[in-house]
Amino acid sequence: MNQTKKEKWIKKLPLLQEIIEKKEVLWRNPSNSDSATGIAQSGISAEDVKDASNRLKRFAPYIEKVFPETASSKGIIESPITPIPKMKQSLAAKYETQIPGELLLKQDNALPISGSIKARGGIYEVLKHAETLALVHGLIKTDENYTKFAEPEFRNLFAKHKIAVGSTGNLGLSIGIMSAKLGFNVTVHMSADAKQWKKDLLREKGVTVVEYADDYSKAVEEGRRQAEADPLCHFVDDENSIDLFLGYAVAGERVESQLREREIKVDNDHPLFVYLPCGVGGGPGGVAFGLKLQFGDNVHCFFAEPTHSPCMTIGMMTGLHDKVSVADFNLDNQTAADGLAVGTPSGFVGKKMEPLLEGCYTISDNTMFELLTMIADTENIRLEPSALAGMTGPIQAIRHQIPLADSSNATHLVWATGGSMVPETEMNMYYGIGRAITEKSTGNNE
Ligand SMILES: *Cc1c(COP(=O)(O)O)cnc(C)c1O
Repeated sequence: MNQTKKEKWIKKLPLLQEIIEKKEVLWRNPSNSDSATGIAQSGISAEDVKDASNRLKRFAPYIEKVFPETASSKGIIESPITPIPKMKQSLAAKYETQIPGELLLKQDNALPISGSIKARGGIYEVLKHAETLALVHGLIKTDENYTKFAEPEFRNLFAKHKIAVGSTGNLGLSIGIMSAKLGFNVTVHMSADAKQWKKDLLREKGVTVVEYADDYSKAVEEGRRQAEADPLCHFVDDENSIDLFLGYAVAGERVESQLREREIKVDNDHPLFVYLPCGVGGGPGGVAFGLKLQFGDNVHCFFAEPTHSPCMTIGMMTGLHDKVSVADFNLDNQTAADGLAVGTPSGFVGKKMEPLLEGCYTISDNTMFELLTMIADTENIRLEPSALAGMTGPIQAIRHQIPLADSSNATHLVWATGGSMVPETEMNMYYGIGRAITEKSTGNNE
């Protein structure tokens, strides 16, 4: 984007100037509309999400068999919702802002198998592909017991097929672990900055890891190119995959039943606010869509992004979606929040979110680290930096006078997107960084 164009955008949308200055901002989406209209426009229906949910139920006996850690949920990959009252107190004190409603944490950091939100969409897409192949080859019918997927004839079939994905982290872990377990020939294309422990872990599980000297986009592009040349290869496309989106969207019905079990009401007088860390957009977009299907206009979803990588915020504000990058507004896309270091958002997701999203806000790396240490100290919960992006949501919503956010009837659900796969030494380092920042803090989070 040239200078004149950029200046025009800033004149039209003055908030962009604050975004360029890397301030923590909140943007309210003026296109947010009624849920029914938004869902109808999306081209995705409740039946599509139900179909994904039923597929995950068919696979549950297989998942339980091959991942014994899922036994307590009978092979359903789900995370708990946890009240965090001590964290709420500490947040209120730090920001001198009361949160009258209840504060809950959705603990995707504790999702079995791959310890992040990617265990929803990523694993779903691999299972769907495996099922399609097994049906085509006459190995299974949908009313049979899917523990059969662990048998040698299935593994022999999958060994002739390839799955590929470009990822710096959690998506690679989810796709790699699930594909290798089924017996697929799986390749994860990783950029130079990917963490060594992730490469090691994947190789240990029998995944081929290809490393690139370039950044994430290059790894994805190269992976896609290689996959397209091979008819037996399925490429998982983080930017455009409807299956990933549907896998994430199943979270909506799960949250609905978890809140019901806790006797937490969501209705006209009891709004639900949900804060979702956003990278390319598929995870938070799919989850928000699933929540809208369940709760309609009574759920209010926000996306949270690093101040250095607010790609979805800029894409939605300008309506340019995947035609704009954070670099167009002088931002360097450098952040310690692994899954969120994305320069260009998914246009597929951004367009679907236009009538459904309440807004977006940004958070600095320093704030994420401080809150990482705070929740470890107050609630003994260990999260990776990205997973803290949602945590300032209630404060931001209340300070910006989002209607009903300050209601004592409101429930604030912060989506903690990852953490349990991070090695202890790495986690201790994160904790130390947060502690040091907190000690130096002057209350100014630039
Ligand atoms: C991938 C990821 C996200 C965001 O998901 P997107 O689909 O990229 O928007 C958030 N948190 C963590 C920990 C992730 O790995």
